[in-house]
Amino acid sequence: MPISIVIGSQWGDEGKGKVVDLLSQEQFDIVARYQGGANAGHTIVWENDDGTEDEFVLHLVPSGIFHEGVTCVIGNGVVLDPKAVLDEIEKIQQLGFDVEDRLKISHNAHLIMPYHKAIEEAREKERASNTDDDEIGTTGRGIGPAYTDKFARTGIRVVDLLDRDVLRRKLTRAIEAKNQVLKNVYGAEGLDVDRIIDEYVQFDQQIDPYVTDTSEYLNNALDDGRRILAEGAQGSLLDVDFGSYPYVTSSHPTAGGCCTGLGVPPTAVNRVIGIAKAYCTRVGNGPFPTELHNEAGEQLRKVGAEFGATTGRPRRCGWLDLVALRYTCMVNGFNELTVTKLDVLSGFDELKVCVAYRYDGKEAQRFPSEAQTLERVEPVYETLPGWDEDITDVRHFADLPVEAQDYLAFIAEELGVEISMISNGPRRTQIITDMDRTPA
Ligand code: GDP
Repeated sequence: MPISIVIGSQWGDEGKGKVVDLLSQEQFDIVARYQGGANAGHTIVWENDDGTEDEFVLHLVPSGIFHEGVTCVIGNGVVLDPKAVLDEIEKIQQLGFDVEDRLKISHNAHLIMPYHKAIEEAREKERASNTDDDEIGTTGRGIGPAYTDKFARTGIRVVDLLDRDVLRRKLTRAIEAKNQVLKNVYGAEGLDVDRIIDEYVQFDQQIDPYVTDTSEYLNNALDDGRRILAEGAQGSLLDVDFGSYPYVTSSHPTAGGCCTGLGVPPTAVNRVIGIAKAYCTRVGNGPFPTELHNEAGEQLRKVGAEFGATTGRPRRCGWLDLVALRYTCMVNGFNELTVTKLDVLSGFDELKVCVAYRYDGKEAQRFPSEAQTLERVEPVYETLPGWDEDITDVRHFADLPVEAQDYLAFIAEELGVEISMISNGPRRTQIITDMDRTPA
């Protein structure tokens, strides 16, 4: 049975958590995270039987965990903060969900250590004080330094947690080396070797029930005809190779990352679902051609509650950018799109959509991922009529205001990709899957 992938098509925060939660409820047996770490914040909102609403922000555990029949996998491509994952597991269990039999963690995933966070913090501080060097705007969770160690082949993996002697040896060596960097390069305090070792040797028994060879598990599941949904974190425009480097994340949210981050073959993937917010947001620094520094931007931020799920930082907001989307459609090969947060656009007289960039005196359709060029492009807008109606209760495409229908049709036409779902509110029920344009 083939694999489907859900991927953020912009700069992250597109509402992937909600879509994965919904899809896994009906269509999948397994949900697997393939990259990133606790810098992700996938928000799930649900209504209780008594009409009250609850919300949970998942950072590491895949967004299928709230459906009892779904097994969740944290793949080898994820960098795992053991403390963060154990805390998250406990919180999910407190809500009454079984996690122990339903969560599998790759023995090959790399661990985030306190020194990764300390180095990230020290590096950002140094960058902030250096006027020639822009802060990248990390989440301070040690993700970048953990991936650095992975590729420098000095990382510590989940499997190392299960052998106390090996862990003690590797950790001692690593902490001593990092303390040199913290003290001598950044002038920061070193970390207490014994304290960290004492803390981390405690994790072996706690994490042991979850650890397995997840690549083998997933490939066996494929052979058994089980349905797998791969869940990307962050967004395609933050991919370390395809995003606006260096303002990127340290992993591959794009489709290829699924195969290397889970150990599954590309021939098993047959559905690639891009999640696109109906407008654009970006957290942290880096080029953002359609960013708005006016009332419209404020309105998007306020109505869309655009504040980071992990960091609480206000998100930068702007109009939909089809040049960027066309690019991520190409890199990922999306065969369908889910458009989220369409409800946030209610109340605008008119909506702008960027259809080309102007730079070096020319108009171009190409997305220049190099930050220097992207910083200076000027968006070329098409203006479409807006709508006033509150659309949060609409459940059929044909019941949307005609301007909203036209807005979506314009996007699909420009991108040449079908829109298969529309999200029009944070709740599970606020979703449109009946895409028939003719009224029922
Ligand atoms: P993710 O990281 O891609 O899962 O996205 P986040 O969880 O960071 O951000 C999405 C935010 O938007 C969350 O607070 C969701 O509850 C909320 N959300 C998701 N879909 C919709 C929608 O269609 N409309 C509105 N208004 N909010 C939504």
